[in-house]
Amino acid sequence: AKKHGRNRHFWFEPAMESELRFRSELETGIRRGLHHDEFVPYYEKQIDLATGELVGFEMLARWHSPTLGTVNPDLFIPIAEEIGVIAQLSEGLIRKALIDARAWAPRLTLSVNISPVQLRDPWFAQKILKILVEANFPPSRFEIEVTESCLHENIGLVRSLITSLKNQGIRVSLDDFGTGYSSLSQLRSLPFDRIKIDRSFVTSLPGNKESATIVQSIAALGEGLGLPITVEGVENEAVLRELEQFGKFKVQGYLYGHPEPGDRTAAELGQLNLL
Ligand code: C2E
Ligand code: CA
Ligand code: CA
Ligand code: CA
Repeated sequence: AKKHGRNRHFWFEPAMESELRFRSELETGIRRGLHHDEFVPYYEKQIDLATGELVGFEMLARWHSPTLGTVNPDLFIPIAEEIGVIAQLSEGLIRKALIDARAWAPRLTLSVNISPVQLRDPWFAQKILKILVEANFPPSRFEIEVTESCLHENIGLVRSLITSLKNQGIRVSLDDFGTGYSSLSQLRSLPFDRIKIDRSFVTSLPGNKESATIVQSIAALGEGLGLPITVEGVENEAVLRELEQFGKFKVQGYLYGHPEPGDRTAAELGQLNLL
């Protein structure tokens, strides 16, 4: 539509027009944000119910946009994927997160979300290892979370990537399990180390028979396959109490706090003697 210039006004509804403008402003903003280093890692606690202890953090991307304020990843990750900057964005965030995580107690792990787009790069595993080596961070403390929406495209490549990562001691989780992106066939064909139950099944838990059945079934599946389970989206004590009847999972969610930037995470860890 661009080459038609102002003629656009004749064939787009005003709402569509402003949506397109917002979208193109986001694209420009994301590129500029990369240039100006506006993307920052936040961290969400992960607790092991078997011990009650903090075991690590999931890194969640945030964009400190000068015009939009703090922006959540659901808005900018899909666009970063489309405009071809997701790898750059993700690698920059991982480098920052490794600097933060290096100061944490050695038993604490760092999990990061990886876009399916990044798994199309045959050099992905080498890139990650190089970043870990440069940051002097042990691969055994590093975990990757993938939601495989592009798996069917090249399952052979993804399998070999996951295998190389695992051979270096990096663990790989299947994220958002139960939502259309992650299916049973992927569990069978790829060597995952862990299943993460999506929060959509969890937030509705107390008193919801369907959700309880689904969570219990995934727990049984994990047990049968020998895969440990993380449950995300634990917002309150009622959910936690129900979960505790189903098994000893790793859990995360607002019950334990909202995702926090590196300095606040470090301050909290300092108080817990985990720095
Ligand atoms: P996710 O991996 O499923 O991450 C969990 C999301 O749930 C996070 O949203 C987190 O802030 C939110 N959350 C955590 N606890 C609770 C809770 O108790 N209740 C509710 N309602 N929500 C909770 P966030 O940070 O907005 O991230 C959204 C998604 O963006 C993530 O979903 C992940 O798929 C993606 N993402 C985040 N960072 C990155 C990244 O660096 N790279 C890529 N490719 N994707 C990322
Ligand atoms: Ca995740
Ligand atoms: Ca997700
Ligand atoms: Ca999820």
